[in-house]
Amino acid sequence: MRYAEVSVNSPIAQRRRFTYSIPPGLSIDVGQAVWVPFGNKVLQGIVLELSRYPSVEETREIAGVIEPRPLLPPAHVLLTHWLSEHYLSPLFDAVALMLPPGFERKIVTFISSPPTPGEYDISSLPQRQVLELVRRRGKVGLRELERALGTRQARLAVSQLIGQGLVVRNYELERVRVKPKTVAYLHLKVKASEARQEAARLLQKRAFKQAALLNFLAQQSKLVSWVEARQSVNCDKTVANSLVSKGLVELQQLEVKREPISYQGITLSEPLTLTDAQKSAFRSIQSSLLQVAKGQASPTTFLLHGVTGSGKTEVYLQALAEVIKLGKRGIALVPEIALTPQTIERFASRFPHKVAVLHSKLSLGEQFDEWQRIRNGEFDVVIGSRSAIFAPQPDLGLIVIDEEHEWTYKQNDKSPRYHARDVAIKLAELTGAVVILGSATPDVETFYHAQRGDYRLLQLPERVTPSEGSPLPQVKVVDLRDELKAGNRSLFSRSLLQATAKAVASGEQVILFLNRRGAATFIQCRNCGFVLRCKRCEVPLTYHFDEDALICHQCNYRMPVPQICPRCSSRRIKFLGVGTQRLEREAGYTFPQARLLRWDSDVTRGRYSHQEILSKFRTHQADILIGTQMVAKGLDLPLVTLVGVVSADTSLSLPDFRAGERTFQLLSQVAGRAGRGTLGGQVIIQTYSPEHYAIQAAAKHDYASFYDQEIAYRRQLHNPPFTRLACLTYSHTNDALCQRGAERMKRLLIEERDSKGVADLTLIGPAPAFIHRRRGRFRWQLILRGAEPSAFLAQIPIPQGWTVDIDPVSLL
Ligand code: ADP
Ligand code: ZN
Ligand code: ZN
Repeated sequence: MRYAEVSVNSPIAQRRRFTYSIPPGLSIDVGQAVWVPFGNKVLQGIVLELSRYPSVEETREIAGVIEPRPLLPPAHVLLTHWLSEHYLSPLFDAVALMLPPGFERKIVTFISSPPTPGEYDISSLPQRQVLELVRRRGKVGLRELERALGTRQARLAVSQLIGQGLVVRNYELERVRVKPKTVAYLHLKVKASEARQEAARLLQKRAFKQAALLNFLAQQSKLVSWVEARQSVNCDKTVANSLVSKGLVELQQLEVKREPISYQGITLSEPLTLTDAQKSAFRSIQSSLLQVAKGQASPTTFLLHGVTGSGKTEVYLQALAEVIKLGKRGIALVPEIALTPQTIERFASRFPHKVAVLHSKLSLGEQFDEWQRIRNGEFDVVIGSRSAIFAPQPDLGLIVIDEEHEWTYKQNDKSPRYHARDVAIKLAELTGAVVILGSATPDVETFYHAQRGDYRLLQLPERVTPSEGSPLPQVKVVDLRDELKAGNRSLFSRSLLQATAKAVASGEQVILFLNRRGAATFIQCRNCGFVLRCKRCEVPLTYHFDEDALICHQCNYRMPVPQICPRCSSRRIKFLGVGTQRLEREAGYTFPQARLLRWDSDVTRGRYSHQEILSKFRTHQADILIGTQMVAKGLDLPLVTLVGVVSADTSLSLPDFRAGERTFQLLSQVAGRAGRGTLGGQVIIQTYSPEHYAIQAAAKHDYASFYDQEIAYRRQLHNPPFTRLACLTYSHTNDALCQRGAERMKRLLIEERDSKGVADLTLIGPAPAFIHRRRGRFRWQLILRGAEPSAFLAQIPIPQGWTVDIDPVSLL
């Protein structure tokens, strides 16, 4: 007898595995998808381990095999366990990340007649309706009944009928959502000459369409699809069917692959001759790849730190070529927003027909086909966003994560709340792959690891093609307090106003940047720029309308809104929060002659895609582009000579200890947009805090000085990377109950901590979440800070209503 430990696709399975016995004659492997009995249902499961002995006394048998070939390779099985343990996520949620798209199927409830249906005499109308439908159709989906009769009525009628033994309930899996795509092809079953004679006969019988189709097919030298034939001859399916029934032609379904990359117009690009800095970075990576291949060393994680335009992508491409030479393959992750046709083309033209693309905008069918082809080893490189890290790429030798500091690599909205960078490093450990993390503004935690020697630091300090004189654009920081003193209350400082007007008049382009999340309300003194912060947490206090108070979103400290500024005693305390829409309006009357274009998530949610807006701007159909952080990413716009940051303070004032880092990253990226062409360029940053280290460092393009300051603060305030965080959020429709639930949890955690003697674990909060109310539910937050909050929490059953985010990228 053999046994299998199975992860079962059921919400109640949580982090558990279940033991099943393997019936004789059934061949089962680790990673295989199986049907297993679970309660009174049969569910999907993935075999994670085989054993000789069961871990429980009574076991049920595996009901069958879904697919003979294992879906998860051994490294992915191990990764599944790590994901579930580290992020405290249900096991099957982790498994699901690695399954073929569309594989997961839900259970559907059906109502049908019992084998020996009894006589009935029923007066209730809903019951009679249900019964008649079921008797007529054999079986009916419960959902359909609910739609027809109303949910409550239908459920009541069904349970009454079940009670009387007149119908039974059973469960089936929902329909398969994706299947391989097939295309119908037509071909002659007779010789072309015979077909022409037959066509002539058909013409005499006035069967014009049939004759035309037959003649068309007789002319073709290769297979033609039915769609093509139909369009050429202009006929419908009955015409083809008549010819089929006469035995003259055959219709055949052939499988085709849906291909997301069109290689039309893509030509092979040769590797560039590397600059000295690129060469030295490349050599380090190359030698690590070689040593790993020879089994002489374990793989390394590299941090490739290089300003925008320093040629990081070229290094990735050549490193990938190197790993392919060694008989292995790669995965390259880019942020979703950077997954533009230009990026894909750059990879596709270096490795023609060897690049797979995976991202959420592909149709399920395209994702399904790409997944199957990747698993079959058809591609050298998989390029994609966050979830592409789970692609079934065989012989993995290299993982590249471009813009590794991007927050979109963290899955925030559902479990497992994983970070693709951490997953990549774990996966590399399990598969023996080398990792390259690339960024112009590395995550402070990543840089810390590089400094400590956990990762190897490679630097590309300069742009490959510096525009004349200045390698990076000049940055000017404008103090908005001076503007106020001079009586200027508009969103534009005098410098920005003049520079914008001049650029537009010279036929150049301007980007105006405003972080939209700044719509969150905070309070600032317009005289001295002072922002009220929590004395304990250092994060800015947030104004709550309903309570007319300032609240710390981390520890729940609260205070009334002060009448005068605590620093300079001025009365000019203002609620701030400007959005891109207001900026657009104001730009409209400040620059009436300029053509404006807005780019933020409000616009792209609607009719226009990123591509449309971008190409409109690229082709100079607008002079000024107004946008949120979207405008900061990966754009190469030679006509842009001026970038204006309308307010650097919006992101600086977010109640999160990472606000400084976030601001530095954004400003650096935005600044990198100017002066990409031969016209050169400048950047103007407007702020009330010109002395802030994040702004100062961004203005000087000085990552090192930013890092030194930031890491000192992190150490001082015991924040990551010196500790790790877990953010627990409780949601409830009632605010008071929500708060009480959160406080109860805090007491429980403190008890656990003290009874187990866990040192170094601090509990912060509970406090209302930054978005205190979402979709009708109130949210309270509890933050755990310590050496290993995840290991601590793993021992504690987390009640319903809580979500746990391990290593959160944001506390908002
Ligand atoms: P990054 O990824 O760091 O932003 P890229 O790899 O996109 O930088 O390089 C910026 C520009 O410089 C691109 O147009 C690229 O084709 C070009 N480039 C990169 N490396 C070289 C090189 N060694 N020689 C010439 N041009 C290069
Ligand atoms: Zn003040
Ligand atoms: Zn606080």
